[in-house]
Amino acid sequence: MTVIVRFAPSPTGLLHVGNARVALLNLLCARAGGGRFILRLDDTDLERSRPEFAEAIQDDLKWLGLDWDLLARQSARLGAYAAAAERLKAAGRLYACYETPDELELRRKVQLGRGLPPVYDRAALKLTPDEVARFEAEGRKPHWRFKLEHEEVRWDDCVRGPSHYHGANLSDPVLIRGDGSFLYTLPSVVDDIEFGITHVIRGEDHVTNTAPQIQLFQALGAKPPAFAHLPLLTGASGEGLSKRLGSGSLKDLRATGIHPMALNSLLAKLGTSDAIEIRHSLADLAAEFAWNKFGRGTPKFDSAELERLDARLMHTASFAEVRDKLGIDGADEEFWLAVRPNLNHLADAAEWWAICRQALAPVIEDADFTNAAAGLLPPEPWDQSTWGAWTESVKQATGRKGKALFHPLRLALTGRENGPELKTLLPLIGRGRAVSRLSGQAA
Ligand code: GLU
Repeated sequence: MTVIVRFAPSPTGLLHVGNARVALLNLLCARAGGGRFILRLDDTDLERSRPEFAEAIQDDLKWLGLDWDLLARQSARLGAYAAAAERLKAAGRLYACYETPDELELRRKVQLGRGLPPVYDRAALKLTPDEVARFEAEGRKPHWRFKLEHEEVRWDDCVRGPSHYHGANLSDPVLIRGDGSFLYTLPSVVDDIEFGITHVIRGEDHVTNTAPQIQLFQALGAKPPAFAHLPLLTGASGEGLSKRLGSGSLKDLRATGIHPMALNSLLAKLGTSDAIEIRHSLADLAAEFAWNKFGRGTPKFDSAELERLDARLMHTASFAEVRDKLGIDGADEEFWLAVRPNLNHLADAAEWWAICRQALAPVIEDADFTNAAAGLLPPEPWDQSTWGAWTESVKQATGRKGKALFHPLRLALTGRENGPELKTLLPLIGRGRAVSRLSGQAA
């Protein structure tokens, strides 16, 4: 069986990390099985769907490297949904209802008041032709419900394990609104059949849709796919993600300069039994992907963990990988290798570039000592061995060692308490600047 999956966002807003995780796991499931990954834009809600969100979703997925094999838009397939609706009507599985939202709400309240589950009572099935004619004459437009079989629906969820719902405990879902537009359920199933989807991978918020959808697959003569419902991510302290990251869309996260593989590495492993470690490619993540690693606990998305992974990735990145992103004219491999172990963010490299190559006010604690050290600096050319040879001679001349030797030199040369190893920085700073700084002059 070739695995075929789809990520199916509605273009009614920006993607957040929870969506990115669903998209990523779809892609990894496809790649692990040598299959296909479809991006399906669920844009049947014409009022709320926006082309700019459809664009933004594609930009975000491209940034993550989640390339899709096929793009489908539901708005282009309305004819297929109408045809499926006709088949369901002909089979007696789709029926017209005339209740207004207020009437339904009142009925719900009465049911709840009597301690009954607020399941739709199928009153519309008992309407006489006269009653229907009266509603039509009033100008009421019907909405259409799918008639569920009142039987147990079972599926073996890839994440949740054996799952079941009884049709009698569920309301017959509305598939078509009074204005003739389709709700999500029918188009989704029609497309899953049409595109031969083998695994529906999505958030746990869709679990209750699954039994009606399985019945829809069957009513349309198709075999239901496998389902995987992922527990929704929360923030580090358990708060709902959309609240915490309300503005923290993927687009905003991208703007922070986070590397996409840091995010992919985290999102692929959250909620699994695998350790969360940096991986350099989606292929590496796909090779480790397996449903039996996923648990049912609520995974926590912690931005500190993301930053740790991002830093890890940056500390091993080659100069070629970062050259364009550094945005520093003249920066070379020597500089990058010197500063990369100390960076928290790529943007911090610019500060070290300035320290190495631009004027800086040195911090002098003991002018006699630093002047003496300046006098001992060897002639250029300098390399990584210069620092050791020079500080050895300063040690011999002054009798200082350890922190008393190194700390004042670091402060004078860089103006900072901490930073990259001085043996790598010293050749970048160069003799002229080093002499001036050790002598207390800005240089
Ligand atoms: N458009 C639906 C959503 O965004 C898709 C759900 C599904 O994957 O079936 O929630």
